[in-house]
Amino acid sequence: MTDDMQRTGPRRVGQVKEITSLSNPIIKDIKALTNKKDREESGTFMAEGLKLVIDALQLGWVIRTLIYAKAAKSKPLVEQVAARTVAHGGLVLEVSEKVLSSVTRRDNPQMVVGVFEQRWRKLDDLRPEKSATIVALDRVRDPGNLGTIIRTADAAGASAVLLIGDCTDPFSLETVRATMGSVFAVPVVKASVEEFLAWQKHAGAQVVATHLAGAVDYRTVDYRNKPTVLLMGNEQSGLPENLAKAADRTVRIPQQGRADSLNLAVATAVMLFEARRHLLALDAKE
Ligand code: SAM
Repeated sequence: MTDDMQRTGPRRVGQVKEITSLSNPIIKDIKALTNKKDREESGTFMAEGLKLVIDALQLGWVIRTLIYAKAAKSKPLVEQVAARTVAHGGLVLEVSEKVLSSVTRRDNPQMVVGVFEQRWRKLDDLRPEKSATIVALDRVRDPGNLGTIIRTADAAGASAVLLIGDCTDPFSLETVRATMGSVFAVPVVKASVEEFLAWQKHAGAQVVATHLAGAVDYRTVDYRNKPTVLLMGNEQSGLPENLAKAADRTVRIPQQGRADSLNLAVATAVMLFEARRHLLALDAKE
């Protein structure tokens, strides 16, 4: 982390800065958040869009820096978010559209971008209740898949998304975009294979692994009596043997046609909505 990145940290007293230069060091640090290494070092990430920023603040996420386009300055909601950022000791930047485009690498950028502190849930704190469903992903590689899965987990009422092994970063710009804000609503946990297998032994949950060689139809499993972990395999190679073997059930989604398999995010959605079918009703959305 550079000294400039420290400048965007929470210790700095809140203030509004006008920036039009692409070479401004604060902008350079924020732009660097497109790199995983910089996100890890600073423990922060970017989220685009006023609605997302408001939702994140409402859910208690800590904002380090708020960036908005000059044109959005007089919008009451932007003013409120800016005041809140300042009140929490964050930095508020009023920038040109050119600067916003370069920060988000988009031609038509959102008018508002927030830099938030990352939040990871600890594996040991994951103690699923009877009705809980957890999505566990083995080495998910594609940011779009991970974002879509986090969004779907949110929509289905899952309690967490557990990332096993070397997964793509849930806080990358692409993943956050694909979550459509659900990254702020669904706890994300990371674990090694060994940590997951150790946790599985005492978590009191049934692990339902999905596998193209699964002999059990996924619709025949009882998802009502125990918390369930839906274990999903890597996009290219599927689940490795050690994970599949340790599962309580190994299920398959029956298919027709020529496709070998379903896309990972689609398979996860099918599993989630089946596992939580008894809990989902049209009039029960909270
Ligand atoms: N070539 C990989 C394989 O042999 O497993 C395909 C992986 S598939 C694209 C990614 C993951 O989605 C799988 O590991 C599994 O978790 C899930 N999946 C996809 N289609 C499935 C199906 N018909 N039944 C069960 N799981 C499926």
